Amino acid sequence: QIYTKEDIIRIAHEEGVRYIRLQFTDLLGTLKNVEIPLHQLEKALDNELLFDGSSIEGYVRVQESDMYLHPDLNTWLIFPWSTQENKVARLICDVCMPNGTTFAGDPRGILKRVLKKANTMGFSSLKVRIEPEFFLLKLDKNNQPTTQPNDEGGYFDMAPIDLGENCRREIALILQAMGIEIETSHHEAAPGQHEIDLKFADAVETADNLMTFKLVVKTISRHYGLHATFMPKPFFGMEGSGMHFHHALFSGHQNVFYNEKNPLNLSEIACYYASGILAHARAITAVTNPLVNSYKRLVPGYEAPVYAAWSSKISSHLIRVSVAQEFNTSIEVRSPDPSCNPYLAIAVMLMAGLDGIENKAKLPLPINKNIHGITEEELLRLEVLQLPLNLEEALEALDEDEIIQAALGEHAYTNYVKAKSMEWDLYRKIVHQWELKQYLYSF
Ligand code: GLN
Ligand code: MG
Ligand code: MG
Ligand code: MG
Repeated sequence: QIYTKEDIIRIAHEEGVRYIRLQFTDLLGTLKNVEIPLHQLEKALDNELLFDGSSIEGYVRVQESDMYLHPDLNTWLIFPWSTQENKVARLICDVCMPNGTTFAGDPRGILKRVLKKANTMGFSSLKVRIEPEFFLLKLDKNNQPTTQPNDEGGYFDMAPIDLGENCRREIALILQAMGIEIETSHHEAAPGQHEIDLKFADAVETADNLMTFKLVVKTISRHYGLHATFMPKPFFGMEGSGMHFHHALFSGHQNVFYNEKNPLNLSEIACYYASGILAHARAITAVTNPLVNSYKRLVPGYEAPVYAAWSSKISSHLIRVSVAQEFNTSIEVRSPDPSCNPYLAIAVMLMAGLDGIENKAKLPLPINKNIHGITEEELLRLEVLQLPLNLEEALEALDEDEIIQAALGEHAYTNYVKAKSMEWDLYRKIVHQWELKQYLYSF
């Protein structure tokens, strides 16, 4: 515990904070907040702040809409970009029912529930490191986003000092100032595409950090006259934006994924964990790749995975293990994209990994070559599943996977699938530009 209730009230007064945002995340991964003036802070810290959750995506039915926000005191933070006249702070909250229990549709609560399962299996924590990628696009005269990338750079390019580079650097500095540790940041392969990697942290903290990260990226890029997008595949023919998750289970201070005697430094538990993720990969995708557009990224040729295979050599499979990590050994899952809800994404991957551990699931052989072009029979023989081709297929896979459904829990599962099915159905019915171009004259 870093802060007590008294600390926060004292700091808020000393610093002249005027408003506090009480933040939480909805099922679809959107950051929400209720803003309170300073004089309400004490009430909020006593978990007495009531709000009406009825209009929030995936929340509750109207007749049971009263809910309470329970601030997590350790998430207290003053936004570094707020001015002295309008100083704003935030607290990330758990969403609770009037009787004090966690609301079943709160993604943060869902992740905490799956982490408890890990605890009962003897693992004290899950550490997660993420690599979000995003595009910086130019704004037009009316400050609306265009589809024009802000630069022509490529992978690890040192562009002439441009808006993108300055903007990316300021984002990294501000995040550091907010206590979010940055590992590296660099230009990604496509024009206008960037990546900023967040350091290993406990699972809930990492998910909290990602929500803050997105807010910072969106806010700061506007200061530079740019629009940041986390859309997974904004441009056909270019790389999409992924968000790789590195997982490591800990027992106290010990990384239980590390075994120096294994040539890949992988412990037996790490292998079971990876097998669990491979086995549940199709259902997991419905959560880690939640948009219609997500599936346009999961195609051959752009370092995004298409098959649920693993390797320590090839970097385009679902799972990659890097030998160089030694006692930082982790399992890197490469399918998720930055449009996913990070709490739910970690929850479903962890549940799959724990299932692998419980069943001592045998890890299939690594596939140290490019899969594209392999025949179906060969894939079957190698026990390699293909990731869903679209959102509908992913939702069907989720419908068949009770373990992953259990990770979400009944309430969240039902509401998530309802929202996503509507999204798919709308896409299915709309006539797209491509169809007009392809068919209008020829038929
Ligand atoms: N952009 C790639 C993806 O979609 C990842 C590229 C990389 O980081 N090597 O996952
Ligand atoms: Mg990277
Ligand atoms: Mg990258
Ligand atoms: Mg990576």
